[in-house]
Amino acid sequence: MTMSALGEPCVLLKLGEVVLKGNNRELFERSLQANIKAAVKDLDFKVDLRQRHGVIALFLPEGSGVERADAVAERVGHVPGLVWIHRAWRVAKDPSAVTKAAIELLADREDVRRGVSFAVRSRRRDKRFPLTSMQLDRSVGGELNDIYGLPVDLKNPELVVSIEVDRDEVFVFTGGQPGQGGLPVGTSGRGLVLMSGGIDSPVAAYRMMRRGLRVDFLHFSGIPFTTSESIYKAYALVKALDKFQGRSRLWVVPFGKAQQSIKASGQDRLAVIAQRRLMLKTAEEVARRLRAGALITGDSLGQVSSQTLQNITAQDDAVDLPILRPLIGLDKTEIMAEARRIGTLEISELPDEDCCTLLAPRRAETAAKIADLKQIERRLDAEELAVQLAGSLQEYKLEG
Ligand code: ATP
Ligand code: MG
Repeated sequence: MTMSALGEPCVLLKLGEVVLKGNNRELFERSLQANIKAAVKDLDFKVDLRQRHGVIALFLPEGSGVERADAVAERVGHVPGLVWIHRAWRVAKDPSAVTKAAIELLADREDVRRGVSFAVRSRRRDKRFPLTSMQLDRSVGGELNDIYGLPVDLKNPELVVSIEVDRDEVFVFTGGQPGQGGLPVGTSGRGLVLMSGGIDSPVAAYRMMRRGLRVDFLHFSGIPFTTSESIYKAYALVKALDKFQGRSRLWVVPFGKAQQSIKASGQDRLAVIAQRRLMLKTAEEVARRLRAGALITGDSLGQVSSQTLQNITAQDDAVDLPILRPLIGLDKTEIMAEARRIGTLEISELPDEDCCTLLAPRRAETAAKIADLKQIERRLDAEELAVQLAGSLQEYKLEG
């Protein structure tokens, strides 16, 4: 059905907050374009990107079928910065071609046979078109009504036929899928995610990518006192998250020995926070090497004893870099729903031997005093230890 009155299949993208940018807009658009191109790069056909006013059109090689438009839409559906993805038909800039395409678009649809209510919604990004938007709505709507006998409902239509007149062509489509929203990855700089194998940190990573941060992932494994399971999990999580930014990197620090020293320092109740501070100090050193400007964690206020206000304060005190906690105000059920939607929940729920189980005190401190923590750190020589740990960093490369 490719070469019918419908014209050529293509994909039409609506930009999100990028359109609010004033002087920086071009920078954001360029970044978004690069991310879109990267997301479709390994498809086995060429995708031609055209920036239009406020939208981006993705054209396919001549004669392409709808499966190609589907494949492209699936990829760009994960790219932050887009609010809508439409599988559209690209039609000649001529009213009768548009009408024909709209008629063809509704043929063979189950809901049309059922007699759904409908409306035509036209918009002109090129005002030189011979018909105004309202004239287009009426004339195409009238034809569709004649042919299919569908009731028009301008307020609450079950089916919307969209017509968008552009510079060189007209796009005709129904429906669409919501995009990720947010800002293009890279436009907010770079961050380092502290990535456990749990449910929260992958969601935190997603949230910050969606605000334009390109993120690296840092995982602390209990090696040599645990198996490599937690690394495989972190790896699988990073792979699942890679669709949102591409070129993701996973870094692993073997942390078991450092944990043993913390345990040996005897302050059982402070062990968890002392360990978290050492992770943060190490992460700060890694961030410096990677030129990342922020650390990101999956903390949510009050979720566990290490995430009380006092303990969060004690963690912030350990480093100079800002610690971003995008989940701070979310409930566990909300975090889980998002984890399910972005495809990380199943992986997070796999069993593993987290490094943190090595130090599970009978009763964890909920209001750690910074002075006490600093005392432990002096004995450990924590600053030096953090530099050493950062030096033992290993990269786990993502394979295709
Ligand atoms: P998550 O589900 O992300 O594991 P959690 O509810 O289990 O979170 P904690 O174990 O207290 O919470 O960890 C809080 C945050 O500390 C995590 O979200 C993560 O950012 C960081 N973190 C914890 N363990 C590790 C680890 N082994 N490697 C890297 N970061 C970690
Ligand atoms: Mg955890």
